Amino acid sequence: MNDQFEGGCLCGAVRFVATGQPKWVAWCHCQSCRKHSGAPVSVFAAFERTAYVVTKGGITKFNSSPGTRRGFCGKCGSTLTCESDRLPTETHFHVGAFDQAARLPPTRHIPPRSACCGYTWATPKLEIRDQSPPAREPGKVYSAASLIGSTGLRLPGGRSNRLAGS
Ligand SMILES: [Zn+2]
Ligand SMILES: [Zn+2]
Repeated sequence: MNDQFEGGCLCGAVRFVATGQPKWVAWCHCQSCRKHSGAPVSVFAAFERTAYVVTKGGITKFNSSPGTRRGFCGKCGSTLTCESDRLPTETHFHVGAFDQAARLPPTRHIPPRSACCGYTWATPKLEIRDQSPPAREPGKVYSAASLIGSTGLRLPGGRSNRLAGS
């Protein structure tokens, strides 16, 4: 069905299904989300708690700050959710936890002072370079050096790593 979004953790111990369109899909840049995910930016899809069911296992919760709970798989550690007492009817899913995350493109950035994850940005927002070059042919493995070299990026020390003939 088109209006169902299935997802789960890396090891498969936790599975869930959300039904209907999310209330919003947005980037969060806060330090709390960074620490929980290990990523510089997180993207969340917000669903009403009545709009999804956990179909396998259970989401383990951690109180990351007063009134905010971070959900993860207790077996493999995958980051899964964020819930805040300030938005008591919503669960925010890390979009990468969905099997088809590309169906949930983010449309805005959560402002620095928001009720979303109950956390005020303590660090500068990471600028997203949407014009980053594609990784060329799908399925073919490239070395990091060849990819960096092909963009002509300057390496520390001022050397250009552009490869001869690329
Ligand atoms: Zn797991
Ligand atoms: Zn956040």
